[in-house]
Amino acid sequence: MKKIAILGSSGSIGIQTLNVVRMHPDEFEITALCVNKDIDTLRKQINEFHPKFAGISDENAYLKSKDLFANNITVFSGDNALCDIASLDVDILVVAVVGMCGLRAVMCALSRGTTVALANKESLVAGGKLVTDTAARAGKRILPIDSEHSAVWQCLHCGFDRELKRIILTASGGPFYGHDRNFLQSVTPEMAVRHPTWNMGKKISVDSATMMNKALEIIEARWLFDTEKIDYIIHPQSIIHSMVEYIDGSIIAQIAKPSMELPIQYALSYPKRIKYDAAEFKFDKNLTFSEPDESVFPLPKLAKQVLSCGGNAPCVFNAANEACVQLFLDNKIGFCDISINIENILNTWDFIHNPTIEDIYDTFNEVYEKLMTDYNK
Ligand code: MG
Repeated sequence: MKKIAILGSSGSIGIQTLNVVRMHPDEFEITALCVNKDIDTLRKQINEFHPKFAGISDENAYLKSKDLFANNITVFSGDNALCDIASLDVDILVVAVVGMCGLRAVMCALSRGTTVALANKESLVAGGKLVTDTAARAGKRILPIDSEHSAVWQCLHCGFDRELKRIILTASGGPFYGHDRNFLQSVTPEMAVRHPTWNMGKKISVDSATMMNKALEIIEARWLFDTEKIDYIIHPQSIIHSMVEYIDGSIIAQIAKPSMELPIQYALSYPKRIKYDAAEFKFDKNLTFSEPDESVFPLPKLAKQVLSCGGNAPCVFNAANEACVQLFLDNKIGFCDISINIENILNTWDFIHNPTIEDIYDTFNEVYEKLMTDYNK
């Protein structure tokens, strides 16, 4: 029986993690659940899964609801709730929170030797070297919960590291793939938040439309699989979740219906596979592929440059994007200004070669504030 704790249990990945746990009561048990402030969802989850611990990051939400919790559950609250839960004795910590708060929690868990199943992009993008060094010291792996990285991970079982030629991430291309820069100038927030395959939040929908999502995934893949041999290809049907090419020219692909439960379940059940009751896969789609046009969507290419810079550059890249997406959604900047601003900030920001965790948080906040104040004057 694996003991599981979930940070962000009321969000989409958290809920789907609990779906997986519900399907396999003989494999997994929930030790702890943590939310930001969605008390209603947390209480329903506690009633069903009976964890010993719960966390509520929002202090006010906790104070309003603390009488509602039974005596046999320990409730952590406030800014430190994530780290309190991340420091518990469990087999796997699922980090499904959104944003930079994930970094500190991931570091807490890895430092005490807990395996982390990671859905939080920010921690690996902004703190990749810190996180992977800490994992290596603890002798622990970071297990990916993302359809692309789970696919790469599964394909990498077909050969040795030294036999790897390249990782090939697949990208849907987003809703504007095939259009030119001229068209992109006219893209509004309403147009950008409609995604062809996945139903997602606004931030990630804009990231998909600018292909920043793929850019962040390139950076994540570098840290998860310890290689910079990473390419990507446009595959609009999102049926092949990613591929790995070996030195003999063999390309291994992972295929499944688009569902996040599968990568979640694989991370939880690894190294074994367990049954998943999905409807049978139907080979009823023609799969197509094309090379990305980086003159129209420059962010994935920029991600590779950011990786070779290292230091706090990936953090600057991510922070500038978060600010720009917000500014775009608030109608303060245009769609194409997102990548232009990110590149400008990268070219001018102070470079820190070996950032500490505090440097990472400072860099993030300073870049974000700088862009927000520049456009909100
Ligand atoms: Mg993905």
